[in-house]
Amino acid sequence: MQTFQTIVVGLGAMGSATLYHLAARGHSVCGLDQFSPPHRFGSSHGETRITRLAIGEGAEYTPLVIRSHELWRQLEAKTGEKILHQVGGLVIANRHKQASHGVQDFLQRTIDTAQQFQIPHEVLSPAELKRRYPMFQLRGDESGYYEPSAGYVCPEKCLAVQLQQARQLGATIHVNEKLVSLQQSGDHIHLQTSREEYRAENVILSMGAWGPSLLPQPQQGFFQVTRQCLYWFEMEDMACYDPSRFPIFIWLPDRLIDMIYGFPAIDGPYGGIKIATEQFDETTTPETRRFDPDRAEVNRMTELVREFLPSVKRYLRGTSCLYTSTANFRFVISQHPEHSRVWFVSPCSGHGFKHSAAIGEALAQSILTGKLDEKISGFPFPQ
Ligand SMILES: Cc1cc2nc3c(=O)[nH]c(=O)nc-3n(C[C@H](O)[C@H](O)[C@H](O)COP(=O)(O)OP(=O)(O)OC[C@H]3O[C@@H](n4cnc5c(N)ncnc54)[C@H](O)[C@@H]3O)c2cc1C
Repeated sequence: MQTFQTIVVGLGAMGSATLYHLAARGHSVCGLDQFSPPHRFGSSHGETRITRLAIGEGAEYTPLVIRSHELWRQLEAKTGEKILHQVGGLVIANRHKQASHGVQDFLQRTIDTAQQFQIPHEVLSPAELKRRYPMFQLRGDESGYYEPSAGYVCPEKCLAVQLQQARQLGATIHVNEKLVSLQQSGDHIHLQTSREEYRAENVILSMGAWGPSLLPQPQQGFFQVTRQCLYWFEMEDMACYDPSRFPIFIWLPDRLIDMIYGFPAIDGPYGGIKIATEQFDETTTPETRRFDPDRAEVNRMTELVREFLPSVKRYLRGTSCLYTSTANFRFVISQHPEHSRVWFVSPCSGHGFKHSAAIGEALAQSILTGKLDEKISGFPFPQ
């Protein structure tokens, strides 16, 4: 039986950050994953994730993303790898409809949060929005919020760098090994995987869409897993979408769809731009989910995108990814209901990546001090 102070199960955005920060503090830590991250089966793939500092979903998230940006900059300086691209970010909303990730008045909340934390930003009038971004088919009554420090993070590279650094700092990493069961007896947890038995003082379950299966009812029922498709399109005028001219965007229109978001042409004039929406009608499981979008989905999405960005030329490629959401889209970072030394961590409600580095650091601190860091103390299981 192998023994560690802490075992982190699941090495996606959350687990790889936690493993790295525990290893950086000289902790005896092992990371386990059923696959070999980064991979395309969970929630941390697709080349880009939006990051922004003024968090419309709740001002309490802003300290986390501010810290994540600092941590990624430190990691970049240490490794020479580029993870965070601050190309600017735009939120567009029509004043009649502005709900996103469970919050009303998303645009105004974003502006309020920027003011509260003194985050540099501009509020764009409908006319200014139209003038600056002629590539969008605007109705004329939308307003905008522009944040220069927003942009995108490269998820696959972020995971790979965190894992490689964790390994260098002494973490043990076992991939292609699946946790099958765990049991707390006294002060220790016994884990059974598809290969071995382990014993640890603390366990972190950062298992993404697979996580709820290790919870008892009713906690399991608080989560729903949905398949979300990501699409890359070639545009007629690709030069307009260069990152030097085109920011990441989140658009909450009052027609056709709740939200549409996208990224600049990060791979040059031939790579296309990534655009996506969200859907919560059809739930799935990690075992039964479908992968790439089918022809009907591609056709529907192409027509939809044309309504907002009329210069769509053709669909290039697509993939899908899993959201694990609670009803109000809040994260869950809490002790396991049945095992006091097991932590359940799920920031995967469609906006978790940007906070993952800071959550990983705060979790590592919490394990070392035995006290939940206040940055992550506001995310209990829903009641
Ligand atoms: C389409 C999409 C778009 C998104 N866009 C954004 C965005 O723009 N900005 C943003 O901030 N966030 C965004 N998010 C959310 C963000 O990506 C997630 O919050 C984050 O990636 C979740 O990471 P995770 O570590 O919880 O899960 P995962 O990355 O899925 O990691 C879980 C890991 O656990 C492993 N595992 C599971 N079960 C076991 C087991 N039994 N034994 C061993 N290993 C196991 C899995 O193999 C996997 O590697 C988006 C998510 C999706 C799906």
